[in-house]
Amino acid sequence: MMTKKPFVTKEQITEIAKTYPTPFHIYDEKGIRENAKAVLEAFSWNPGFKEYFAVKATPNPYIMSILRELGCGFDCASKTELMLSGAVGATGHEMMFSSNDTPAEEYAYAAKVGAIINLDDITHIPFVEEILGGKLPETMSCRYNPGGVFQMSNGIMDNPGDAKYGFTTEQMEEGFKILVSKGVKNLGIHAFLASNTVTNEYYPKLAAILFKEAVALKEKTGANITFINLSGGVGVPYRPDQTPNDIRVIGEGVRKAYEEILVPAGMGNVSIFTEMGRFMLAPYGALVTKAIHEKHTHKEYIGVDACAVNLMRPAIYGAYHHITVLGKENAPLDHVYDVTGSLCENCDKFAIDRELPEIEMGDYLVIHETGAHGYSMGYNYNGKLKSAELLLKEDGSVQKIRRAETPADYFATLDETPFYSKMDL
Ligand SMILES: *Cc1c(COP(=O)(O)O)cnc(C)c1O
Repeated sequence: MMTKKPFVTKEQITEIAKTYPTPFHIYDEKGIRENAKAVLEAFSWNPGFKEYFAVKATPNPYIMSILRELGCGFDCASKTELMLSGAVGATGHEMMFSSNDTPAEEYAYAAKVGAIINLDDITHIPFVEEILGGKLPETMSCRYNPGGVFQMSNGIMDNPGDAKYGFTTEQMEEGFKILVSKGVKNLGIHAFLASNTVTNEYYPKLAAILFKEAVALKEKTGANITFINLSGGVGVPYRPDQTPNDIRVIGEGVRKAYEEILVPAGMGNVSIFTEMGRFMLAPYGALVTKAIHEKHTHKEYIGVDACAVNLMRPAIYGAYHHITVLGKENAPLDHVYDVTGSLCENCDKFAIDRELPEIEMGDYLVIHETGAHGYSMGYNYNGKLKSAELLLKEDGSVQKIRRAETPADYFATLDETPFYSKMDL
């Protein structure tokens, strides 16, 4: 029987639910810290290494504070993510601004707070220059998209040629020449070529591509390349039969490519940056929900009190999230259910034809790996409200790190209309 062990027990959740009604997201501080330390250790061979946590994965300032305390910076894609990072204490180069189709106002804000701007396109060079009154920052980066298909030996494939992001190879050379001529002193190269890769091969393979590109760019443009950003894409095993990535093996693989390609080219002082979101947080968060209905029609359904508003990945990409019925961890998986939320959308199912133990009304279900791209992707369809976020601290206590939404939050943007005062808040 393939299984996953939740980081909370039935006894713990029964106690927590007395104060915080389900559904809620809960995060495991111990797991977050141990994993983040393993990441920093795996890349400690590189003195300039920095993990810029991808804020979009889990934009909660309490979680971000834990990561910052350990030495992480933040990768932001919008002004609001920069504002959040600033509120957590990040300044200047502790923030990376990797955005695309970027509004002028957001570039201006990124420059004002001193974040490293990672340009998504060659046309953004004059765009940013104009916004900043003709003076580019001393340190900038360009996002590279070599095109084609990116394939790994285990069959994982992604299609950069079909992705909207980044500069082509020719544009990288031209862009770097322009940036050097305009006085940019330190340049970086960034690329994100495959998502949720459950293989130790992805970063080393990406690193080799970027390191060769860096050597070529230095020769052709004379640019002073000070960092290479491997971005995100390191995955987690959502399914219990998958083998987790080993970050130490990944770090060693990147080191090998670094020593083979960059060091002989006299580029042994280049810093390695990463921007992981999923790998940093996904396994250390869970959505806890309660079974509130059972329905026996053409299929067997279990209705829970969470819905796609709390976790969208199954509805939008058919993503698998493992489910544990608390207190029934060792019971036989002798029932087959669709586990559904309440939205008026048939895709609002956390699981389809899933083998689970017999579920009784009131049972608590743990939906695994919701610590990244879980709460943050939520929306308010059907007027459904987003849940609370809780932090299970290292000492076993629970801290509310975001309250659940209320109808007043949902209606807040109507506050300037005559309807607002008629709301039964
Ligand atoms: C989404 C994103 C990340 C994080 O991706 P994960 O798959 O969560 O690691 C990092 N960098 C950029 C630019 C992104 O868009």
